[in-house]
Amino acid sequence: MQRYELFVDGESRKAAGGEWFPTDNPYLGTPWAEIAKGTPQDVDNAVRAAHRALHTGPWAELTASARGALLRRLGDTIAANARRLAETEVRDNGKLFTEMHGQVAYVPQWFHYYGGLADKIEGTVPPLDKKGYFAYTRKEPVGVVAVITPWNSPLLLLAWKIAPALAAGCTVVVKPSEFTSASTLELARLFHEAGLPPGVFNVVTGFGQDVGAALVEHPLVRKVSFTGSDATGRRINEAAARDFKHVSLELGGKSPNIVLADADLEAAVNGAVSGIFAATGQTCIAGSRLLVQQDVHDEVVDRLVDLARTARMGDPMDESTQVGPITTPAQYAKVLDYIGIARQEGARLVLGGKPADRGGWFVEPTVFTGVRNSMRIAQEEVFGPVLSVIPFTDEDEAVEIANDSRYGLGAGVWTGDIGRAFRMADRIRSGTVWVNTYRAVSYLAPFGGFKDSGLGRENGIAALTSYLEDKTVWINTGAPTGNPFVLR
Ligand code: NAD
Repeated sequence: MQRYELFVDGESRKAAGGEWFPTDNPYLGTPWAEIAKGTPQDVDNAVRAAHRALHTGPWAELTASARGALLRRLGDTIAANARRLAETEVRDNGKLFTEMHGQVAYVPQWFHYYGGLADKIEGTVPPLDKKGYFAYTRKEPVGVVAVITPWNSPLLLLAWKIAPALAAGCTVVVKPSEFTSASTLELARLFHEAGLPPGVFNVVTGFGQDVGAALVEHPLVRKVSFTGSDATGRRINEAAARDFKHVSLELGGKSPNIVLADADLEAAVNGAVSGIFAATGQTCIAGSRLLVQQDVHDEVVDRLVDLARTARMGDPMDESTQVGPITTPAQYAKVLDYIGIARQEGARLVLGGKPADRGGWFVEPTVFTGVRNSMRIAQEEVFGPVLSVIPFTDEDEAVEIANDSRYGLGAGVWTGDIGRAFRMADRIRSGTVWVNTYRAVSYLAPFGGFKDSGLGRENGIAALTSYLEDKTVWINTGAPTGNPFVLR
């Protein structure tokens, strides 16, 4: 079986403990490769390498323009390898090749965009209110960044973090999900190929409780950038707070997808299906609560069930497959548990509700109607192909139900009334609101969560700022020596 080693200080190496762990192909339900099982010792080696690269050597010496050029070259190298990287991701997480190839082929844009921004990071000259002084500000890299990623879109979500971090001049140590480490290790080789100096990008694979926790707690790490569950995000936030580390947290969601009676119902039903069944529901922005206005409720449900019923399940590598397997056995069990919980709570099952009759970890696209927003199935993230349909009477009630959630990541509004679209977009408490579309993202558009869905924003210029520290330099150009015991 193929083996993947850690990537530290510009080279592949075995884990300090010499151990490996298997990584599974969810479609077949069998292991396909072995991954080095990193240890806190490996974390320390990697963070020290990143710290050295930050302060000494070629990376620290580069001009911002040269740094940007390297990132753009890296983007080109990724583009040339997109197909192979996407195949690795599919082998590891079982998502559709068509989706993963689209994602990986899009990743270079992050390196091109942030590469272009690298030499546009400028300080300011504050117009001081005090005579005899001149002051300027510098923007400096925040330091070594710990990057921790989930299994659902490993390289895309990694790019959202490392492209701005590297453009800012930081160095990084990545801990990918233990379920999908291979593509991140393949990417590490491309860093080498694109000519990035050793120590700038390091990967320590392994498990959250040892490698992830050791990375977050390492004293030389200055920022933690995390995407994953809110439970882990809370733990990371608490650990990072002890050393006043910066954090960006992209967490879970229970996003409402709202269909008003005046919507183009065909488009809305299409959006509802893609909101929850694309990626087998394993996306943080899954539109897992479908809020439907009473007047069109039955028609929407009928059309939705008719469309979802046609979903072709199968080999995720096959371009005609529409729904792939669940990525891990634990997640598969969790999805089936939630289906049981929804039934016990009195929700009405109108589609699916059981494992698909085939090998691997497949669950049929599942739709529940008669869901009340207070039910667990409407409040807790399932992260699978399970949709809860909740009726509402008017715009106010739709907004109230949408906001009655501890999450606030995404929301969809389907309406033919432009005024209503603006009003609802204003009132919904979530980081993204899509009107008459769903699940669109871009390197240019800030992304992140309100409430328990996270802290900070990725993408756009704001993300770059989050990897920078401001420093103010004061110069005395002739101010009189004043009373030494009072503030100047
Ligand atoms: P997870 O929280 O279980 O794991 C994420 C990462 O954290 C993994 O690499 C894991 O090894 C690591 N980890 C676990 N315990 C840790 C600890 N104590 N210290 C440090 N690291 C630790 O999440 P997951 O199951 O891999 O991913 C699914 C979750 O991610 C869902 O909740 C989903 O909504 C969320 N997600 C959010 C976004 C977003 O952008 N908001 C995107 C994708 C996924």
